[in-house]
Amino acid sequence: MRRNLVIIGGGAGGGSTAAEAKRNDPSLNVTILEKGNFVAFAA
Ligand SMILES: Cc1cc2nc3c(=O)[nH]c(=O)nc-3n(C[C@H](O)[C@H](O)[C@H](O)COP(=O)(O)OP(=O)(O)OC[C@H]3O[C@@H](n4cnc5c(N)ncnc54)[C@H](O)[C@@H]3O)c2cc1C
Repeated sequence: MRRNLVIIGGGAGGGSTAAEAKRNDPSLNVTILEKGNFVAFAA
C-alpha cells in the first residue's frame, strides 16, 4: 500500500522536504499544497 505525504507550503522548505522524502522512498505519494500562485524553483 502506497503511503501519502502532504506538505503545506511550496517554498524552499516544502520542495526540499518533498525531494528528500522521494529519495528515501520513491514509492511515496507526495502532494504539495501551495496557497500562492507559484511554487519555489531553483536550478
Ligand atoms: C526579501 C527577502 C530576500 C531574500 N533573498 C534571498 C536570497 O537571495 N537567497 C536566499 O538563499 N534566500 C533569500 N531569502 C530567504 C529565503 O526566501 C527563505 O529562507 C526561504 O524562502 C524560506 O523557505 P521556506 O520554505 O521555509 O518558507 P517560504 O519561502 O516562506 O515558503 C512557505 C510557503 O508556504 C506557503 N503557505 C503558507 N501558509 C500556507 C497554507 N496555509 N496553505 C498552503 N500554503 C501555505 C506560502 O505561500 C509559501 O509559498 C530572502 C528572504 C527575503 C524575505
